[in-house]
Amino acid sequence: MKIHEFQAKRILADHGVPVPRGIVATSPDQAAGAFDELGGTLAVVKAQIHAGGRGKGTIQEHPEQHGVELVKSQDQAVRVASQLLGNHLVTIQTGPEGQNVRQILVEEGCDIARELYLGIVLDRSAKQPVLMVSTEGGMDIEKVAAETPHLIYKTYFDPALGLGSYQVRKLCYQLGLDSTSVKSAERFVKSLCRLYVQLDCSLAEINPLVVTGDGELLALDAKINFDENALFRHSEIAELRDLSEEEPAEVRAAAAGLSYVKLDGNIGCLVNGAGLAMATMDIIKHHGGEPANFLDVGGGAKVEQVTEAFRTLLDDQNVKAVLVNIFGGIMRCTTIANALLEAYQTVGFSVPLVVRLEGTEVEEGRRIIADSDVDIITADGLTDAAQKVVAAAG
Ligand code: ADP
Ligand code: MG
Repeated sequence: MKIHEFQAKRILADHGVPVPRGIVATSPDQAAGAFDELGGTLAVVKAQIHAGGRGKGTIQEHPEQHGVELVKSQDQAVRVASQLLGNHLVTIQTGPEGQNVRQILVEEGCDIARELYLGIVLDRSAKQPVLMVSTEGGMDIEKVAAETPHLIYKTYFDPALGLGSYQVRKLCYQLGLDSTSVKSAERFVKSLCRLYVQLDCSLAEINPLVVTGDGELLALDAKINFDENALFRHSEIAELRDLSEEEPAEVRAAAAGLSYVKLDGNIGCLVNGAGLAMATMDIIKHHGGEPANFLDVGGGAKVEQVTEAFRTLLDDQNVKAVLVNIFGGIMRCTTIANALLEAYQTVGFSVPLVVRLEGTEVEEGRRIIADSDVDIITADGLTDAAQKVVAAAG
């Protein structure tokens, strides 16, 4: 689960990680007030959307307006606020349609001596969180990772023990921090590592992590993602969820108990089991097609869920054919066959439908489909199914 920068900064501050003072605004008037309250000389107005790359991103309705802007007067703050709010910010992470800006963060301007990078993620193969730092922080970190990966230093730490002081000293050396910054760095980095573990984060990224003119470390940007499977332990974090930032179809599908992720292709997939869903996407690609989604209806899906799954798939205007790939284990093929007919009655199939059934009660399931008057292309095996659906979508 993602949250906004201003929410992440509140969490950081609560856990002892220094952040600049900032005020959230939802109107140009509020932005004016915030500018005054922060001292009235220099501030930064920052669009709050879940995607990164805002500084380089531009507003669709005002192409000269970036998503992060330094302002030196109340008038400027008001002008930037009105160009951001209610408009669409397009960044490398949003896609061409951009993301609607509903709120902005007005933040005190920071005296930046250096921009560093710091990020923590879980390294699944190492079974430990990994802390990554680089001297090349700021808006080009993707380029650094691609072209000069040796400039990114990695430190693994034990989640139970946290980051050791010796590790912090090494990090300070790698980042070229002088003695005035070491104390600040120790507090900053250790607190962040502790927070990452305590709150079950899947990502905590500070880019840029700045060294101020006084040698203090400050989180100028903050991105924190959380492991959704652990949200039941953190109700206060679950409340930070902003559904308006998420793909509406994914939100609806989650409410119906489906795991759905929208993709860019044109072949809708309805599958039971995450592993089979991955394999189905792979084989579609292997045969030259592009999946429009990942969709796992789960082992014990009911007719209503399967109907909802169809509705979700067919709502996507890009979908030109659908592949239903079911391995009946706990799920019986007869349940799926009946659900298909039910979905046909309530949703109607506007595109070709290829069905591959295997497993428990498969014969009866196939018979139910054959005896119906629904127009379905049946397939034997995964390869046959993939070839047929790719042909049907083409
Ligand atoms: P994004 O990563 O989405 O582009 P950032 O929050 O990193 O957004 O902001 C982009 C750049 O704007 C930063 O690299 C930094 O140079 C500048 N910036 C952001 N916040 C401030 C601030 N409070 N004071 C001064 N400069 C800032
Ligand atoms: Mg940033």
